[in-house]
Amino acid sequence: MAEIIRKIKGTEDIMPKESYKWQFLEGLMRSQAESYGFKEVRTPVFEQTSLFARGVGETTDVVQKEMYTFSTKGDDSITLRPEGTAGAARAFLEHSLHNDGLPSKQYYLTTCYRYEKPQAGRQREFHQFGIEVFGTGNPCADAEVICLINGLFNVLGLEKIRLEINSIGCPKCRSEYHRVLKEYFSKYKDKLCDTCLGRLERNPMRIIDCKSPVCSEIGKDAPKMLDYLCPECKNHFEKVKSYLDIAGIKYEINPSIVRGLDYYTKTVFEFVSDNIGAQGTVCGGGRYDGLIEELGGQSTPSLGCAMGIERLLILMEESGVEIPQPENADLYIASMGDDAQLRAFAICEEARKSGFSTQCDIVGRGLRPQMKYADKIGAKFSMVLGDSELEQGKAEIKNMETGEKKEVLLDDFTAGFSEIMIDYQTKQIADL
Ligand code: ATP
Ligand code: MG
Repeated sequence: MAEIIRKIKGTEDIMPKESYKWQFLEGLMRSQAESYGFKEVRTPVFEQTSLFARGVGETTDVVQKEMYTFSTKGDDSITLRPEGTAGAARAFLEHSLHNDGLPSKQYYLTTCYRYEKPQAGRQREFHQFGIEVFGTGNPCADAEVICLINGLFNVLGLEKIRLEINSIGCPKCRSEYHRVLKEYFSKYKDKLCDTCLGRLERNPMRIIDCKSPVCSEIGKDAPKMLDYLCPECKNHFEKVKSYLDIAGIKYEINPSIVRGLDYYTKTVFEFVSDNIGAQGTVCGGGRYDGLIEELGGQSTPSLGCAMGIERLLILMEESGVEIPQPENADLYIASMGDDAQLRAFAICEEARKSGFSTQCDIVGRGLRPQMKYADKIGAKFSMVLGDSELEQGKAEIKNMETGEKKEVLLDDFTAGFSEIMIDYQTKQIADL
C-alpha cells in the first residue's frame, strides 16, 4: 500500500465532527458584526510581499521572521497573508471605498499564515475573525470596536477575560519617546538579542514586544509611552476610557502593550485570559491612523482588531462553555431490493423539499449494515422499505430511541411524517 501523505506541521484539519463548533462561532461573529453595521470583505490569500513589508512594518517579528514568502514563475515575490488588515486596507484603496461613505466598516473570517513554532494556540495556519473601521479618528469608534468584541465574549458566557488597553501615541509624540527608549535600552546593549539590537536603531519600541525572556525582562522597566503622550493623544485616550466607562466595560491599563505590528497608533488593546497558558491573548487590535497613507492613500484614520478562533475555542473548552450539537438526521430509509431502493430515493427527495433531513442507502448494502449505519448517524427515525411495503403502499416509521412505531402511507408520505415529527418535537419541548 502506498504511504499516507500527512498534513503539514503547524496546520490542523477541522473534521466533520468538529466543524459545527466553527460554524456556530462564525455565525455568531457574523451576526454580532452585522448588528454594528459591518459587512464582510474577502481578499486573496496571497498578496505582493511589499504590501506586508510596508503595511505590517519591516521591523516586526511577523515580517522579519514569520512570513511565508515565495517567488512566482514570473519572479514576483508573493506572501501568504500573515494577518487581515493589510489586505483589507489595500482593497479599500484599490476600490476607492472612501467614495461609498465613511466610516467603512468591514469584517473578515479568514485563514492566516505565520512561520512560528507550533504549540497549543499557535499554529502556522490559523483562523482570525477581524473587524476594521476605515475613516474615523474619533475615540467613539475605538470604544465601538471594543464593545463589539466584548459583546461576543458576553454572549458566549466567557467571563474571565481581561481587557487591557494602552496608548502608544502618534508619530509626533513617539519620536521623543523613541529617543528616551533608545537611551534606556542602550545601557543593555550586551544583553539584548540580535534582532533587538537591530531594532534599537530603527524601532526601539519593538523591543518591549520581544518574546525573548531576557529582552522582555529588560523591557519591563523601560519608560512608558503613556508618560510621553502629546496633548491630542492624551485627550483621545481619556475619551476612549469615558466611552468604555459609559458602556460599563471594565478594563485595565497595561502600559506594556505595544502590539506586534508597526501600523498601530494611539489606542491599542488586548483581550487576555489567564486560563489558556502562554498563548493568552485571544484578541488584539488598535488604531492605525497612518496605515492608509503608508499604502499610498489620503490620510484616513482607521482602526480594527483580530481574534484568534483557535484560541477562542481553547478558552471555551477550558471554561466549560459548550457549543450546541447539531441535530442528527430526521429519518433514515432502509431498503431491500432495487424497487424499494428507487422508492426510498424518491421519498427522501420529497421529504427534503419539505425541510426534513433524510438519508437512504446509497451503497447498495443489505438491511443489517443499513440499520447499523442509521444507528451510527443517530437518525431520529427509521423506516424499512421492501416488496411487501411497496405492495401495501404503507410502512412503519420507528422512533430509534424508544422503538415506538407508527404507520405512514407511502403515497402521502410527507404529510404522515410531518405529523410524526410534530409529535416528536412537541414531546422534546415538553421535556425541556
Ligand atoms: P502573539 O503575541 O500571541 O504572537 P500577535 O500579537 O502576533 O500574538 P496578532 O497579530 O495581534 O497576534 O493577531 C491577533 C490574534 O490572532 C492573536 O491575539 C491570536 O489570538 C491570534 N494569533 C496570532 N498568531 C497566531 C498563531 N500563530 N496561531 C494561532 N492564533 C494566532
Ligand atoms: Mg505573534
